[in-house]
Amino acid sequence: MSKDYYNILGVDRKASKEDVKKAFRKLAHKFHPDKKGGDEAKFKELNEAYSVLSDDKKRAEYDAYGRVFSDGAGGGASGGANPFEGFDFGGFGSNFEGVDLGDVFGEFFGGGKERARRGRDISIDLELPFNEAVFGTERKVLLGKTGFCETCSGSGAAPRSEMLTCTMCNGRGKIHETKRSFFGSFSTVATCTTCQGRGKVAKEKCHACHGVGVRRKDEEIALRIPPGIEDGEVIRLTGGGEAVAGGTAGDLYVKIHVKKHPLFTKEGNNLTTNLSIKLSTALLGGEYKIQTLDGDLTVKVPAGVSLGEILRVRGKGIPYDKNKRGDLLIKLSIELPTKLSKEAQRLVEELKKEGI
Ligand SMILES: [Zn+2]
Ligand SMILES: [Zn+2]
Repeated sequence: MSKDYYNILGVDRKASKEDVKKAFRKLAHKFHPDKKGGDEAKFKELNEAYSVLSDDKKRAEYDAYGRVFSDGAGGGASGGANPFEGFDFGGFGSNFEGVDLGDVFGEFFGGGKERARRGRDISIDLELPFNEAVFGTERKVLLGKTGFCETCSGSGAAPRSEMLTCTMCNGRGKIHETKRSFFGSFSTVATCTTCQGRGKVAKEKCHACHGVGVRRKDEEIALRIPPGIEDGEVIRLTGGGEAVAGGTAGDLYVKIHVKKHPLFTKEGNNLTTNLSIKLSTALLGGEYKIQTLDGDLTVKVPAGVSLGEILRVRGKGIPYDKNKRGDLLIKLSIELPTKLSKEAQRLVEELKKEGI
């Protein structure tokens, strides 16, 4: 490749990035194919020169070897700096229906590939009681969104309708459109809105969706929440988002919020709880009735336990790995009497004599 990119853009070899950008904008404006007196070949050449000279790495390679190794020099604006940076596109914003802005410019520069149309993702929040988060649960949520039409399964055609080639795009599914920009105007490839990119239209349209294939509706979505889900975890349902005519649906993201439990805390696969026992139980041992997520349970406190000791009840924790369950950990605290009766005081004196 022996083209002189500096010459093409009409800049000095020492030109700053800003000057390169300015020169490119000016010339691109002048030679844009959609303008009167435009020149497509010249425009492509400008774009090629700009993609190299606006990229520090490519420009250094070009300066040293007269060519670029890191990327195809004609590869479009993808690798280079964005010449549109700082420009206000007005209505031509990121919400350009179903098409990535990057894709539009990729096409504009002859580089990128068109991606399939995809509907927007939807994010929702779901609060669960502690028990349901531990054991897993099912929830049905009603979601107002654009979904595929059930009557025509998204095709837009009435049952058994004859399919005709779309006259708007001649069956290509795409239409070259002229868009206004700071250049004046330039063309982009857009999905044909008549056939929604399918290239064919039904002779008889689906009555439920008027031939669009999607429609706004309330959809009931069944969510299966796996056991042991953590607070803040996100469940993704592929295809649960907004549908788009002639494309694929986005995804649904469900963020889980787990309510706190007054008695239990989750620690990995284990549950922890606190139990306050009497001093006499700590010394002599005894039985306590406690609450678990599976109902009441009597636990045996062995004699001679100390403050902060942990009793473990196996298998009463969080379910995991099909049939396994974590444990319930009971952290002991000992209630010390603040006031002793005369009799109690006498007995403790006796204990003292015993060296306790
Ligand atoms: Zn329909
Ligand atoms: Zn069409």
